[in-house]
Amino acid sequence: MHQVTDFTLFKEVMEILPTPVLIKDSHHRYIFINKAFEALFQVNRVDVLGQLDKEVFVDRQVAQCNGGDLRVLETGEIDEAYESVFDSNGDQREVITRKSRLTMASGDVYLVGTIYDITDVTVMNQQLIINQTKLKEQSEQLENMVNTDPLTGCNNRRALDIQLPTLFEQASFKGGLLAIDVDKFKLINDNYGHHVGDLGLQKMVKIIVETLSSEHQLIRMGGEEFLVACAGIEHKQLIDLAEQLRSSIEASKNQFAGHHISFTVSIGVVHTDTFNKWNLDKLINAADKALYKAKALGRNCVYYKLP
Ligand code: GH3
Ligand code: MG
Ligand code: MG
Repeated sequence: MHQVTDFTLFKEVMEILPTPVLIKDSHHRYIFINKAFEALFQVNRVDVLGQLDKEVFVDRQVAQCNGGDLRVLETGEIDEAYESVFDSNGDQREVITRKSRLTMASGDVYLVGTIYDITDVTVMNQQLIINQTKLKEQSEQLENMVNTDPLTGCNNRRALDIQLPTLFEQASFKGGLLAIDVDKFKLINDNYGHHVGDLGLQKMVKIIVETLSSEHQLIRMGGEEFLVACAGIEHKQLIDLAEQLRSSIEASKNQFAGHHISFTVSIGVVHTDTFNKWNLDKLINAADKALYKAKALGRNCVYYKLP
């Protein structure tokens, strides 16, 4: 077998390694650096060999290095550190340094260090994190858009199944629904135009939102029909709230496109002490039925069944 005995071969191997390598003596003086080290720090070995860190590098870098060097040389522990270093152009590089103690048969000790330049990986990681944050924001925006009615800004019925069960579960499964429908809305469209009808719907939502408290949910079910979900509320309070909504809408003074427009709503009320998400449709149907009763009773009124 051919044995490698030529020391210069090992030196040459060190030179072609892409990893920066350094060797220091027990007095922390450089006795070897390879080409990759010279390239990373933009230094020349004639200026480095025999020198201490502080004679070669800027202060902030030296402070980071010295603590590690001392520990490695004294204890023999391996030192692995993530560091920001500066090359001779002042450009910051992100590196992982790994230093270990080499003890020769003669008893001489050396510090052997390798440096992994991870600047590009770090930049890529940062870019990935930025992209991930952007994506998350965009998907939240998208989800908001999907659940929001563009005309009035309130939730659409997609939000129903997602939000209502949680709302009621948090309120001990007690609360109720108000089914609200604008009275003779078609006439407003017919008499003043669709645009005036739109403005009317926006105004009505504004009045409802101002009357409701923040834990109540307003959902546009479609057209001029809305649902208000109130979790944690007693039956009597719910009826009072419905009446307050009805009278505020009736009393509102509206001027759209030069026309004085007044409108009223009919409201069906349904209350439960045992909300169950599997019965949500049943509860909505019951609120709808109460709404039809209100319409049948002449509109502009609140209908509810006492328990
Ligand atoms: P009722 O008192 O029985 O509820 O009578 P109504 O006229 O309100 O009921 P109907 O179901 O006959 O008509 C509802 C109208 O609501 C018809 C439709 O053109 C109008 N509408 C639905 N969505 C919109 C909208 O987004 N904008 C406008 N301007 N009108 C809408
Ligand atoms: Mg209507
Ligand atoms: Mg309707």
